[in-house]
Amino acid sequence: MSIADNLSRVRADLAAAATAAGRDPESITLVAVSKTWPASDVAEAAAAGQRIFGENKVQELLAKIPESPAGLAWHLIGHLQSNKVRKVLPHCALIHSIDSIELARDVSRIAGELGLTARILLQVNVASDEAKFGFPVGVVREAFAEIRSLPHLEVRGLMTVPPFDEDPGQVRPHFAALRRLRDELEREHGVSLPELSMGMSHDCRIAIEEGATMVRVGSAIFGRRDYGAA
Ligand SMILES: *Cc1c(COP(=O)(O)O)cnc(C)c1O
Repeated sequence: MSIADNLSRVRADLAAAATAAGRDPESITLVAVSKTWPASDVAEAAAAGQRIFGENKVQELLAKIPESPAGLAWHLIGHLQSNKVRKVLPHCALIHSIDSIELARDVSRIAGELGLTARILLQVNVASDEAKFGFPVGVVREAFAEIRSLPHLEVRGLMTVPPFDEDPGQVRPHFAALRRLRDELEREHGVSLPELSMGMSHDCRIAIEEGATMVRVGSAIFGRRDYGAA
């Protein structure tokens, strides 16, 4: 299967999942996760109409952009260290992975210095998984008023990476919890948080049923990653 074939299958699956859930397929944004894959694969996906790409490492993101076709939108979906914010901000259409109040403050301050507004999602560790990055739910509730008041940030919504489970049905409660938290924050703070970034190759159907507006799909498009060779 070529990348173009994989992409059209993934798009059809997402649209079918949306329709089955009574949602408009247009309300779901596909982020093609190109981590570990070369810019030539990005170019292949771009030729098949894909415009939004996700990377989980700043260094790989910055190296891949100049080698890839122009005019694509790049999202950072992995943990961001404060010392890399200045380098990455000008190249990132959306950062999915703001996971602490300190990082949010740094991103706002540096965005201001660069004359930008940073579009961000708050990554929430809804499953309280010790191995995962993300705000604990209680902390994001407490910190939200300050984060939304930071001047150079546009908080677009929430993101989560639930613990892996062979059975995607097991992650449903985590997706539902992220949506409930979003609804609660919107109500209590009178804001709009339109984006819910949740769902990967194996569980994006469930995520869409639970309200995902962005799904981050890598292996179903590009193939299985071989970290050993990378
Ligand atoms: C790698 C990655 C994905 C994509 O995972 P696949 O299983 O390849 O679809 C999605 N989100 C994040 C945060 C990732 O690091």
